[in-house]
Amino acid sequence: MAASGPSPWPANAVLDEAGLRVAGLEAEELAVRFGTPLLVADEAHLRERARAFARLFPHPLYAVKAFTSHHVIRLVLEEGLDLLAATDGEVEACLRAGAPPSRIVLHGNNKSDAELRLAVAEGLRLVNVDNPEELERLDGIAREHGVVQDVLLRVLPEVGAGAHRAIRTGEAGSKFGMPVAEIPTVVARAMELAGVRLVGLHAHIGSQVLEVQPYLEAVDVLLDLLVELRARTGFEADVLDLGGGFGVAYTDETPLALDELAPALLARVRGGAERRGLRVPHTLVEPGRSVVGQAMVTLYRVGVVKVREGVPIVAVDGGMSDNIRPMLYGARYRVAFASRPRTDGPVRVRIVGRHCESGDVLAPDAELPGVPRPGDLLAFAATGAYTYSMASNYNRVGRPAVVGVEGGRARLWLRREDAADLDRLEVARALPRRAAPLEGVEIRPARPADAAGFLAVYREAVAEERYLRAERVVRTVREARRVLRRSVSDDQAFLVAVEAGAVVGWIQIVREPHPVVRHVATFGMAVARERRGRGIGSALLSEALRWARDRGVAKVELSVYPDNRAALALYRRFGFVEEGRLSGHSRKPSGYRDEILMGVWLEEER
Ligand SMILES: *Cc1c(COP(=O)(O)O)cnc(C)c1O
Repeated sequence: MAASGPSPWPANAVLDEAGLRVAGLEAEELAVRFGTPLLVADEAHLRERARAFARLFPHPLYAVKAFTSHHVIRLVLEEGLDLLAATDGEVEACLRAGAPPSRIVLHGNNKSDAELRLAVAEGLRLVNVDNPEELERLDGIAREHGVVQDVLLRVLPEVGAGAHRAIRTGEAGSKFGMPVAEIPTVVARAMELAGVRLVGLHAHIGSQVLEVQPYLEAVDVLLDLLVELRARTGFEADVLDLGGGFGVAYTDETPLALDELAPALLARVRGGAERRGLRVPHTLVEPGRSVVGQAMVTLYRVGVVKVREGVPIVAVDGGMSDNIRPMLYGARYRVAFASRPRTDGPVRVRIVGRHCESGDVLAPDAELPGVPRPGDLLAFAATGAYTYSMASNYNRVGRPAVVGVEGGRARLWLRREDAADLDRLEVARALPRRAAPLEGVEIRPARPADAAGFLAVYREAVAEERYLRAERVVRTVREARRVLRRSVSDDQAFLVAVEAGAVVGWIQIVREPHPVVRHVATFGMAVARERRGRGIGSALLSEALRWARDRGVAKVELSVYPDNRAALALYRRFGFVEEGRLSGHSRKPSGYRDEILMGVWLEEER
C-alpha cells in the first residue's frame, strides 16, 4: 500500500495482510452482516475528535450537515459541542435527536419565513443572518412572537480558502453573506430593530482548508471591521464566529492541526482585539468535516472487473448515490483492500460505481498492491463527511447502512434503505376501483362447506412463509366451519373465490372493535399458488372494499412484508399507500421480519 504521509484511516483501523479491521472487527465480517456498501464509523475516533474541539475551543458548534444522523448529533452533544444547522430540516434533526434549542444555531443564505419562525418559536440560541432583507423579516417574526432573537451577521471577508471552488465561501462574488463595505449600514439598522439583538459577526471562509493563515487573515478583517463599526455605530461584538472548514487527510494531505490552530486563532482574536482597544469577543468555530470525516470508511464489494486501454476498471456496488464528492469536486480518496489484499504487484485501477453515468467514477486512479477480483472488499478512507448527507436514490438505489463500531462491538446507526422505503412517498394514483368480473371465477360469501377448501389455500400460503403472518395453521376444519357459518355481518366479511367448484382464494376483512377505530377495517387474504397472477386477488379485494364502503368503513389498513412484491403492487393498484413500518414485528422460523403498514381512505373527501 502506498502509505505516504499522515494516515487518512480511522484511529482504530488496522490494515494488514488479512485486510481491514476497525475497532477489533473484521471489515469482511461487517460487510457480510450488514451488507454493502456500508459506512463503518470508528466511534471512539469520532468521540475523540469531538472532545478535542470541546477542549481546545470555547463552545464550538458541530456543523451537522457533514453527517446528520441522530446518533452523531447526540454523541457530539454529549462531548460538549453545540450544533450548527443550515436548514429547517437540520434544525428538526437536532431537535428530534434531543438537542435543547439553546444549543442550536441556524445559518443559511436563503432562509424562508418558515425557517425563521421555527428558529424564533423554538428559541434557538442564534440566527446567523445572511442579508439585510432577512434581518428585517426576522425582526418582524421575533416581534410577532414577543421575543428578541440573538443574531450574528455573516460577513464576506474576501479571504478565499478551500480545496475546490465549489467549497470556497469567503471570496468576493460568493452567494453567502454581505461584503465588508455593506456591514456598517446593516449593523446600524440592526441596532434600531426591537426584535433582534446583534451580538457579533460570522465568517466562514471555505472548506477543507489546510493552513492556519487564512483564518488569521479572516480574524484581522473582522477585527478591523469591528473598529470601524465601533466608530460609526458604537457597536461592540460579544461573539466572533470564525466558521469551520478545517481540512482533513483524504489521501496524503497533512490535516490542519487543531492544537496549532486553536491557540493561534484564540491568541489572534485576543491579542488583535486588545491591540485595537476592542472588547475581547467570545470565539466560536463551526467544524463539520474535521469532526466526522476521518472517523468513517466506506466498504464496497467488487463486482465486474474489465481492462480498458490497459487500465483495470473495477466496478463496485455503490457509487455516486452514496458518495457524490469525487464527481462534484474531484475529491480523491485513499483506497485499500478490506478483504485479504491481492499482492500481484502495485497497480493503478479506476474504481467505478454501478450507476448509469460515465462520470460515476469513485476513484480515477487508485493505487493498490494488486488487481481486485470479483467478491473482494474495498475500503475508502475518510468518507464520514458529505457522503451520506449528500446521498441520493439515483437509479432507485437505497442509501447504505451505517454502523458504529467500538470495542469489538458493532451497532447499527442507520439501516439500509430498501425497496419499500423507496416506495414510501408514492401517493395513491386513483381511488379504489372495481375489478372486472373474472371468467369462470365466482366471488361470494364463504359457507361452512368451504371450510376444507379455505384451509387448504391458507395452509399453502402459511407454508410458503412469505405471505402470511401465521406460522402455523391453528384452525381445524370444524373450527373453520363455525367461523364460516356467519361470514358476512356488520363486523366482518369472509369471502371466497370459487373456480370449478374449488376454493382458489379467500379474503377476511374485519372491522376494528374499539369505538375510536370503528371506522377502520383490516384484512388478510391468500390465493392458491397456481391461480395467482390472474386477477383473483383483485377480484377478492374489490369485493371486500365494496363491503367496507357499504358498511360505512372509512379506511382500510393492512400489513405486508417489504419483499412481497405481488401483494404490494396489488394494494397500490387499489390506492393503498405506505404509512409506516414495524421493525421485526413478525418472528418467522427464518428470523425477525419487518412489516410495512399500508392504508387507503374510502371516503372521497379524504
Ligand atoms: C459547511 C459549513 C461549516 C462546516 O464546514 P466544514 O468544512 O465541514 O468544517 C461551518 N460553517 C458554515 C457556515 C458552513 O456552511
